Amino acid sequence: MRYFSLVLFALLFLFSANLQAQELKYDISLEPAKTGGKLKLEVKLEFTPWKGDTTPFRLPTVFTWSSNLQRCFRFIKAVEGGRIVQKDSITWAFVKKSGATKGVISYQVIQNFPGEQVTVETSFSPIILEDYIHIPAPCLFLVPANYYSYDNFDVTVNWTNIPPNWKIQNNINSGQTQQKFTSTKEVDWIRSVWVAGDFRLLKGEVFGKEVAFALRGKWVFSDETLMKMLLKTIETQREEWQDKDIPYYSATMIPFVSPNRGRVGNARTGLGLGYGQSNSFVIFADPLCPLKDLTNLFNHEMMHDWIGGKINIGQNPKLPGLRWLAEGFTEYMSLRNRWKNGFISDAAFMEELNEEVFNAHYSDPNSETPNATVEKYFFRKPEYEGIPYRRGAIIAFYYDLAIREKSNNEKTLLHFMRDLLELTNGTGRDIQENFGLFTETLEEYLGEDPGSFLEKHATKGLRIAPEQFKSAELLTMKVTAVGVPKFSLNAGKAELFKKD
Ligand SMILES: [Zn+2]
Repeated sequence: MRYFSLVLFALLFLFSANLQAQELKYDISLEPAKTGGKLKLEVKLEFTPWKGDTTPFRLPTVFTWSSNLQRCFRFIKAVEGGRIVQKDSITWAFVKKSGATKGVISYQVIQNFPGEQVTVETSFSPIILEDYIHIPAPCLFLVPANYYSYDNFDVTVNWTNIPPNWKIQNNINSGQTQQKFTSTKEVDWIRSVWVAGDFRLLKGEVFGKEVAFALRGKWVFSDETLMKMLLKTIETQREEWQDKDIPYYSATMIPFVSPNRGRVGNARTGLGLGYGQSNSFVIFADPLCPLKDLTNLFNHEMMHDWIGGKINIGQNPKLPGLRWLAEGFTEYMSLRNRWKNGFISDAAFMEELNEEVFNAHYSDPNSETPNATVEKYFFRKPEYEGIPYRRGAIIAFYYDLAIREKSNNEKTLLHFMRDLLELTNGTGRDIQENFGLFTETLEEYLGEDPGSFLEKHATKGLRIAPEQFKSAELLTMKVTAVGVPKFSLNAGKAELFKKD
């Protein structure tokens, strides 16, 4: 009997050790840096090392226009349970002591660019200034490689030594100095930006679920105007996707510098730039950015909750890039969304479609650049930046009309997209690896295989001939003297086209 209890005790012990393997604990404290009058973050991480001797940690390198991100980490040290070795410029490994069941390391996170001005090229680098910090989670949280193989694990983040007037927000919560959560596919905490500082926190609700908005800086309109726009956008989009059970949402917004009216180095972004991530989006904007541009950004970035988020498009560099789908369909659907939720009139909707999508694309000498070239140079050659947005929006518009015509306006592009959501969300399947999901589902709506059309217009990048667009009784098309299709709404058809 005694023997049995010892075995039971040993089993319980093993079980609890196994439970501990599912935990990560980060302590973050803000310290003055000796150089440049700036701050640094001291991070201590407790984790359970891999069963083998060494636990690798990989540093991030590139994120959108920001590069050399590995340089924001320094003084990576072992504190307990083993020692740290550097494998190469971006890989470190914790080598555990024999018998150690816990590893503790510490590291510093610093800003990897000089100065106080945030530009397009530094927007996704850690920003660590006197007044605030703004850090993509991969640049704040080193994650031991073994944790990537776990379906879920518990995470605790504690903030200490933060100035009393600082507010903290991230895609877990808002206004708290602790985040305690289970990392799952649904709670993708690492695909987010974490902020703290002199932010103004606004709270609201959509369908009974919390929405938090953290912003700083001076704008040419009130915080309440922005908050109202945010809540309205969330409401319309969740309604549209029939996806309302989203427990929490974080939006953050900071001013950035856009000299030359929106052209910074190689990047062309206009007066605002945004990024939709897990249960959150971030916006950077010039302080003089007009409300119209921000409305576009809010709608576009939030649309990525579904297109690119829950409908995982895929990011395998070895497969053909689908930016035309991720960005172009998002662009078209968010334009429709602004129309549907009353941010723009019928006339403004048609004007934007005709001018900023069709005219901009059909009169652009680079518009027929093949998809592979656009993907390759997207972040490096500004002349290619707008192409996937416009090309994909035109393909989305083409299919929206084709589906409407085929179904006598009973079905639309949105119905197809909702099917795609159901086929991919939570399944681990992405569109790039499973492109058949896209074409076969679309075929059900069109009554024909879209393969050769997509090959011609998405992959080779050829513009769609104006006469190919269907009217679905909704639109009249004329071709301008320079060959650009121009659409107008047929009398009395606006409501039908607005409806999904
Ligand atoms: Zn986008």
